[in-house]
Amino acid sequence: YLAKERGNTYQFYTSEIGESSSKLVELEVRLRKALDQNEFQLYYQPKVSLESGTLEGLEALLRWKQPENGWVSPSEFIPLAEKTGLIRPIGEWVLRTVCRHCKLWKQQGFPPIRVSINLSMSQFQQENWVQTIYRILQEEEVSPKSIELELTESTIMHDPESIISMLKELKSVGIHLSIDDFGTGYSSLSYLKRLPIDILKIDKSFVQDLSENAEDAMIIKAIISLAHSLDLKVVAEGVEQKDQLRFLESEGCDMAQGYLFSRPLAAEQIPAMFAEFGW
Ligand code: C2E
Ligand code: MG
Ligand code: MG
Ligand code: MG
Repeated sequence: YLAKERGNTYQFYTSEIGESSSKLVELEVRLRKALDQNEFQLYYQPKVSLESGTLEGLEALLRWKQPENGWVSPSEFIPLAEKTGLIRPIGEWVLRTVCRHCKLWKQQGFPPIRVSINLSMSQFQQENWVQTIYRILQEEEVSPKSIELELTESTIMHDPESIISMLKELKSVGIHLSIDDFGTGYSSLSYLKRLPIDILKIDKSFVQDLSENAEDAMIIKAIISLAHSLDLKVVAEGVEQKDQLRFLESEGCDMAQGYLFSRPLAAEQIPAMFAEFGW
């Protein structure tokens, strides 16, 4: 399977981002080794309620620290992990590690917190993916209510009928669901109505240009109103500035994430962050 995919991978990469194929072979080999040798880490970014200022949850963000070169950004290695199929074992590692951190924080006396996990399209194409999620949660003794899964519009629209049925199953056991980077992909409003999701996350590109770009402000307003009329909560991503926060508050956005509140933090830093939020 991987051998067959391999040709496509290099073609995709050489044409799309102009990387040399030898560099990509190297990166794929390194990515496998990274998984075997525990070079991945999870960072967590708080999600804050705009009404009360309270902590609402965390988003888990994958980090890869290469001993020889330092940090590699997920936007560099996730696309390759998707193309090679390595995203599947990596995704299972992410879920299991989130569960272990949840258990650890519980042992340290903190109340349960909901943690959201980013999922790629190819993970939904994995056979028995829903069962794999249940199995990991059971093995790690973590409640499905503590987990939120973030999908993008393109994941959903790739195969809406089968995704909807998987999402309904996940939702029925109490897992929360959100659409990430909302507004950047294309999704059909008729599907949006049928999806068993709880949250829309406004893509950070709209938030970032908010003050200079009247259209972005209008788009944010429209997304908030669309979400609320469908009975969904809205999270704004990438909030860095006070004026962005004030605009989002005045438009009734429910939650926000961004450097203004906190950068993504290493797991060891989370107890101190919990303490600051009075969690
Ligand atoms: P995303 O899920 O949309 O995550 C938000 C990204 O915005 C993260 O980048 C985060 O560090 C960054 N961010 C947060 N606050 C701010 C801010 O105020 N300003 C700016 N400029 N950026 C902010 P990161 O960690 O580099 O992740 C990039 C993307 O990689 C994620 O986008 C997600 O699509 C993907 N990703 C990350 N972890 C995983 C994972 O475990 N599995 C999968 N499948 N994808 C992942
Ligand atoms: Mg996300
Ligand atoms: Mg996003
Ligand atoms: Mg993204």
